[in-house]
Amino acid sequence: MTAPDPAPRPARRRLRVTGTVQGVGFRPFVHRHATALGLDGVVRNEGQGVVIEVQGPADALDELARVVRDEPPARARVSDIVAEALPSGATDRGFRIDTTRTGGPATSPIGVDTAPCAACLAEVDDPNDRRHRYPFTNCTDCGPRYTITRTVPYDRPATTMAGFTMCPACRREYEDPSDRRFHAQPNACPACGPRVAWRSPNGIVRAEGDAGLTAAAAALAGGAIVALKGVGGYHLAVDATDEGAVVELRRRKVRDDKPFAVMVADLGAARSLGHLDEASEVALADPGRPIVLVPRRGDAPTAAAVAPDLPELGLLLPYSPLHHLLLAAVDRPLVMTSGNISDEPIAHTDDDAVARLGPMVDGLLTHDRPIHIRCDDSVARATADGVRLLRRSRGFAPEPLTLPRPTGRPILAVGAELKSTVAVAWDATVVASHHIGDLEHLATHRSFLQAIDHLLGLYDLDPAVVAHDLHPEYLSTKLALDLDRPLLGVQHHHAHVASCLVEHGRAGPVLGVAFDGTGYGTDGTLWGGEYLVADLEASRRVGHLRPLTLPGGAAAIREPWRMAAAWRHAAGLAPDPPPSVDPTMADGVTGLVTSAQGPLTSSVGRLFDALGSLVTGRVRATYEAQAAIELEALARQVERVDVVEWDEVLSSDRIDGVAVLDPGALVARLVTELGRGRPPSEVAAAAHDALGRGVAALAAELAGAAGVGTVVLTGGVFQNRRLSEVVADDLRARGLEVLEHHRVPCNDGGISIGQAAIAAASS
Ligand code: ZN
Ligand code: ZN
Ligand code: FE
Repeated sequence: MTAPDPAPRPARRRLRVTGTVQGVGFRPFVHRHATALGLDGVVRNEGQGVVIEVQGPADALDELARVVRDEPPARARVSDIVAEALPSGATDRGFRIDTTRTGGPATSPIGVDTAPCAACLAEVDDPNDRRHRYPFTNCTDCGPRYTITRTVPYDRPATTMAGFTMCPACRREYEDPSDRRFHAQPNACPACGPRVAWRSPNGIVRAEGDAGLTAAAAALAGGAIVALKGVGGYHLAVDATDEGAVVELRRRKVRDDKPFAVMVADLGAARSLGHLDEASEVALADPGRPIVLVPRRGDAPTAAAVAPDLPELGLLLPYSPLHHLLLAAVDRPLVMTSGNISDEPIAHTDDDAVARLGPMVDGLLTHDRPIHIRCDDSVARATADGVRLLRRSRGFAPEPLTLPRPTGRPILAVGAELKSTVAVAWDATVVASHHIGDLEHLATHRSFLQAIDHLLGLYDLDPAVVAHDLHPEYLSTKLALDLDRPLLGVQHHHAHVASCLVEHGRAGPVLGVAFDGTGYGTDGTLWGGEYLVADLEASRRVGHLRPLTLPGGAAAIREPWRMAAAWRHAAGLAPDPPPSVDPTMADGVTGLVTSAQGPLTSSVGRLFDALGSLVTGRVRATYEAQAAIELEALARQVERVDVVEWDEVLSSDRIDGVAVLDPGALVARLVTELGRGRPPSEVAAAAHDALGRGVAALAAELAGAAGVGTVVLTGGVFQNRRLSEVVADDLRARGLEVLEHHRVPCNDGGISIGQAAIAAASS
């Protein structure tokens, strides 16, 4: 900051504010404070952020800078303020908002889509308000942002609201600096804004406006399956208490057991379905409105088919006024699952919705505000030490993060393959996209290319380097190779560790424990149980899980009994395939396992699949890591106690100076205790706790050997709370610092951020 001007005449300054400062009510906020401080000048959006040129007493200027830095609007994030003294002189009296200046590189992060604020909801519910029951009510503090923004600077013509002309009343609000809708770009009302339409499955409009909403609510109350256009795409909605309707939705959507999310009207309704602690309530009410995983109440009226065989429910609160009105009208919890078949991208355009979803639904509740970019719901879990995002998407993307090491050149990071996200970085900023999905689907691949174009376009970047995974078969890697730009291949687990470092603002070195399903190793084998000594520049593999044959490649992921057979063999037992498996197949797998043929993997994700299959008897998984998730659910039925069972079942050897963790004895012990008839929940708990303690003991040893005092826990396996709690507690008890994931997913959704941070540090 510049020193206060000692001269008696007024000082004049230019403040350049960067961060998330557009689309979050920043200019009205500056206007309000500058006016209250009696300052003269202007505030405007520029591509790079917000620029304030202001004149007045030096102490008032200091106070304005302080307020901007310390008390910005709720959804703003100020990353930097650069102040510059200007010669003072004659100026217009008063403070105003200047029209947007375009030109220059557009690099200001735009806001995230935000749930309706209390003031807007009060209007929607007020029969005397002109926005009574209006589903698109918003203000400078709330409403859609990322999903309607085509380009920056963020102004109405740059959004999908460009086609709606504000009525005189809305225009007055928009232009009145004292109004809470001053420069609210999506401002709208029933007279001038978007409208809902209730359509038949073939797209014919049956009713519009409030009548359409009422018709959709009546259909839902009668058990119909409805496609609902939300903020980032279409949902498929159905009465969550209607078993038959939920089962029918699974059939039409071609989805076996993967749990559905449930939207409830408010926190009171959420409490009737799940056991909510304070952290869960805070997470549910977050303006980003993620789906929050909570323990299901025994007496919850939700249908069993909502989340088969799982003790948890994914709940979310309404995140637009349309949801708010619909939930109030239907007066029961609604399944809200992404509008797609199986794992395709969600539908977000109206034509696509009619074409793809029409055949699956009894009607569509649409509206005429276009969605520019599709954006799935975010998913979170609340823990005692804060919210952990498992999927960072609507309401959170594209919120920028700060790079621990800034970059001198623009970066594009293309992520991995599953749970794909992409990221761009410049200077000290990294911005990750919404959740794109699994790139193995062609349609998702198209969506991936759109996300890259959108991010590069929004921030007007021409990447000087493209960071990618080392896996030669990932579609993201192939795309990177096609881009004709300098490339940086980043090892998968190094990227996981770096993604955790980013959210803690650290550069390392640390000991990274990176456990996941699969990542391509520097030796060409499939890694997934890695101990790395890493910083943002480099990583060194100092330990890993004992590698085993992956019997049947991808089939071993879909059929966890195969890894169970491999681990039984490794434990010195007969592979013993389950009797329900086709005998030829069983013999084939036994042959692969006993002859140690096929690709090797050190994956802890696959180890958990195996343990899950052994304990629960699950033969086939209908969604990723199902056996492991069910194993954790069993383990959580048993309290963690201080009794140390199953000690010494994890051994580690040194092979060529690298530690190899061998859970063979643990597998043998688990099989023995199950054979003796010990309850599966106790066996599952003992296995988690013994594995966790062994993992931590080796981590502590390797950290000590490397001379580092910090351990990073990363990779999708650490979504397992039982395991992460045991490992983290044990490490902390040993005096080590433990870094875990909160804002950046620990799964492959965070990989693009880690790749970008590594590319930045190496530039
Ligand atoms: Zn509002
Ligand atoms: Zn209007
Ligand atoms: Fe991974």
